[in-house]
Amino acid sequence: MIKIQNYINGELVAPQNGLYLDSFNPATGQVHAQAPDSGRQDVDEAVQAAQNAFPDWSRCSARTRAGYLRKIADLIERQLPQLSEAESADNGKPLQLAREVDIPRAAANFRYFASAIEQFSSESHFMEGQGINYTLRRPIGVAGCISPWNLPLYLLTWKIAPALAAGNCVVAKPSEITPLTAFLLAQICREAELPAGALNIIHGRGETAGEALVRHPQVGCLSFTGGTQTGAQIAGRAAPAFKKISLELGGKNPNLIFADCNYRQMLETTLHSSFANQGQICLCGSRIYVEETLYKKFRHDFVARVKSLKVGDPLRAVHLGAVVSKAHQEKILAYIELAKQEGGAILTGGKAVRVEGRCADGWFVAPTVIEGLPNRRRANQEEIFGPVVTIQPFKSESEAVNLANQSQYGLAAILWTENLSRAHRIAERLQAGIVWVNCWMLRDLRTPFGGVKNSGVGREGGFEALRFFTEAKNVCIRY
Ligand code: NAD
Repeated sequence: MIKIQNYINGELVAPQNGLYLDSFNPATGQVHAQAPDSGRQDVDEAVQAAQNAFPDWSRCSARTRAGYLRKIADLIERQLPQLSEAESADNGKPLQLAREVDIPRAAANFRYFASAIEQFSSESHFMEGQGINYTLRRPIGVAGCISPWNLPLYLLTWKIAPALAAGNCVVAKPSEITPLTAFLLAQICREAELPAGALNIIHGRGETAGEALVRHPQVGCLSFTGGTQTGAQIAGRAAPAFKKISLELGGKNPNLIFADCNYRQMLETTLHSSFANQGQICLCGSRIYVEETLYKKFRHDFVARVKSLKVGDPLRAVHLGAVVSKAHQEKILAYIELAKQEGGAILTGGKAVRVEGRCADGWFVAPTVIEGLPNRRRANQEEIFGPVVTIQPFKSESEAVNLANQSQYGLAAILWTENLSRAHRIAERLQAGIVWVNCWMLRDLRTPFGGVKNSGVGREGGFEALRFFTEAKNVCIRY
């Protein structure tokens, strides 16, 4: 049994209350680790350590900080097998996915922001004959970073890396459901000899450790990725204290398929955008709209391909592993039942999958395709966050855009067409922070990332993240 510890002031320490939470391997249903159920005292201690470390960390050169980030990236790459196994065991995702996507991306996050901070610059505004202004961008102080369970190390490092690069000290709280790789990252930071207190990682529940971090008066900014309801709570707590917030929240993303698309590529990618990571990616395209003239063919081919996807032991060559918890499995299955009551017909899937052998007690759900569900029904409007998609036909471009935009969310959208004018026209009209044309999850870390409407506030990625983790100060000099 792995006993996870907090990382405070450079040390691995037990929670002060002595309490631990069980952490399950979703593929086997067995407890495989225990993580601190930290309380306010642990958070206080971590914030104090971060505050103490701030003067030195913020004043050392960007190059020095970048050097530490690159060292951490090197160590993540060196420990790729262990980290991938831990991520797969903690989350239920196929080992291959962790090895090819999650862990390499965690290293890339550190490496990217190491370079970005060396390239970061600020503006100057010249006032003819009078003087000059320049903008200083200084770190905020202590940054709170809170991350979810679906891409545990990938999303945790996506926040930590820019916060540290910009000169902040960090108190991070990973999801209590998937704490393992954050613990391994703490060990890596010790190996990299990251200065004590620059990064602190507190494990625990949202309503205790998370709340304490959000409410802590010395935490100047909060970067959060998770559910929309949690984001609203955090925004409510942060506003009266005037904390800067960045919120990356839920999605219910449309996938618009036109008859003139590159069919083979579309079909292949749509399988991924629907079911990668068991559909537990905020960017998955769960509402699929297909031009009427293509609909019958798509329905036939897509359902046949979905039926051939392998669900099973994440350590084997499977397309889908386990969903993250029993509670989450129940939530997904309840939404499938709701979709049926709301008029949807199940074309394939629609149930839990029993996997023989070591995974007999694991939590698996068959990839599910639903047809005939009206757009405004709950199962087409609320985030299911599982391997469930709905398909429906559309007649015209404007109908497609209306259906896509008929949502409280606005994170990502996917568009398939070979018509260049249409691609530009629709990309502009879609209410989303990210539009992928003829692709999905093609990511350039320099680009702004985030959502509109209930999908969030603010942007991560590239210089946007460095701007978030700094305060701008104008210096005005008269000639
Ligand atoms: P969640 O909101 O339940 O939890 C996210 C994190 O917040 C966890 O670390 C949790 O402990 C913490 N937390 C919970 N309540 C808190 C509180 N009151 N105060 C402070 N912290 C609190 O979300 P989840 O179930 O872990 O993740 C799934 C959600 O995340 C989905 O809605 C998904 O769409 C979203 N998500 C969004 C993005 C994006 O980039 N927009 C990326 C991945 C996941």
